[in-house]
Amino acid sequence: MSSPSISVCGLGYVGLSTAVCFASRGFKVIGVDVDEQKVKLINSGQPLIYEPSLRELLAEPIEKGLLSCTLDYKHAISESRTTFITVGTPAGSDGSIDLRNVEDSSRQIGRALRDQREWHLVVVRSTVTPGTTSQLVKPIIETTSGKKCGVDWGLCMNPEFLREGSAVKDTFKPDRIVIGEHDRTSGDRLENLYRQFYGEQQPPILRMSPVNAEFVKYANNAFLAMKVSYINMIANLCQKISGADILQVAKAIGLDKRIGPLFLEAGLGYGGSCFPKDLKALLDFAKKKGIDAPLIESTIRINESQPLKALEMAEQILVDLEDKRIAVLGLAFKPNTDDLREAVSIRLINALLEKRAKVVAYDPIATDNARRILGDKVLFASSALDCIDGADSCIVVTEWDEFRKLRPEDFERMRNPVVIDGRRIFDPQEFKRVVRFEAIGLGATSMSPSE
Ligand code: NAD
Repeated sequence: MSSPSISVCGLGYVGLSTAVCFASRGFKVIGVDVDEQKVKLINSGQPLIYEPSLRELLAEPIEKGLLSCTLDYKHAISESRTTFITVGTPAGSDGSIDLRNVEDSSRQIGRALRDQREWHLVVVRSTVTPGTTSQLVKPIIETTSGKKCGVDWGLCMNPEFLREGSAVKDTFKPDRIVIGEHDRTSGDRLENLYRQFYGEQQPPILRMSPVNAEFVKYANNAFLAMKVSYINMIANLCQKISGADILQVAKAIGLDKRIGPLFLEAGLGYGGSCFPKDLKALLDFAKKKGIDAPLIESTIRINESQPLKALEMAEQILVDLEDKRIAVLGLAFKPNTDDLREAVSIRLINALLEKRAKVVAYDPIATDNARRILGDKVLFASSALDCIDGADSCIVVTEWDEFRKLRPEDFERMRNPVVIDGRRIFDPQEFKRVVRFEAIGLGATSMSPSE
């Protein structure tokens, strides 16, 4: 059986990963975006974003003509049988979800479907609040196409769970696939597409209504973010207890099968393009439904103050940060990505600058993106060693593998060797022998009788 063709609207982290993974397995894929520069660059084999193995995987399908990108919705729809909507759904200034990209994409799909004779499947893959697929996407496409959903075209909501930094891996091997179907035929068609894509390695497929599929995504992200804020709250407490160490506490908690070890890594908080905006959107959604969501509120509150823990630690040691040279190791919101959306680093750096500190930063790949945000307020170093050279304090903000290799002696080049491990990548015993060392969730080692 020949592989069916798909189109993917919105070529960001999700859309491009989906497009490239499908094309690499022989599907004909047409990518659509509104950004002309992005379309041009992808067509020339340049992904524009950093994701492990994405660039390598992109080359062959482009060469073979299996993947091409366009600004033209009509072309993309007429050349495919299934269309994924993967446009961004950012938070508005009040925290509510901004659905303008989804509206625009739906409108353009509808217009393109007007001239289509064949039945077409539309799949909402962007994260959208419950009700959006049936109450926004469906009526827009029906109005603009003049065609009835469930008769002339099909509709599914199919949330994406990939993680930036392992987007390709996660696309090839997801924990499960959730299909929210408007009608049975639509669900069958999407399930068949995935069966063809995954072959023998079929992940579990769960079928449900669109509104449940939409809600699964929010409930899932809120739970994970809550786990992060929970362990950070416990870490902050550990720091006030002599002899306590969050690593030992978290490891033991994580071995409880009912809890599990993932997302129990204490640090400076979560960032990125999903958790912060999705939690705000969920909170706004709950408020509009008249429901209190104190767990979501606390998760957000803990996360917003967490990056400043590193600043507090630096201030406790250096007292006054004015004119102090602070080295920031890591800018990306997590390792293996160049994404800086809602990155902890930006919040921390702005707070350091308010204290009139001199900030010098280094990231293995996110420096260009950071320069666009921070401009010349910050010095950018070309290596980790350059970054810490002559500094009064060094803060580890992103847990890149490259930083894990640094030895305590490397920090002797600092003017004042004070290392603040915001991601718990260094061994305290080893570092404490050589430098002044503080870390998230690490209590003071001596216990006085009054404590
Ligand atoms: P992104 O911001 O990286 O990319 C979105 C792309 O959509 C951009 O290239 C933009 O130019 C394009 N776009 C905007 N309007 C368009 C339109 N009308 N037609 C065609 N293209 C348009 O976004 P992302 O991080 O890939 O996220 C996409 C969606 O997937 C969001 O809803 C997000 O919440 C969700 N999601 C993201 C991740 C993640 O890790 N990034 C994981 C799971 C789910």
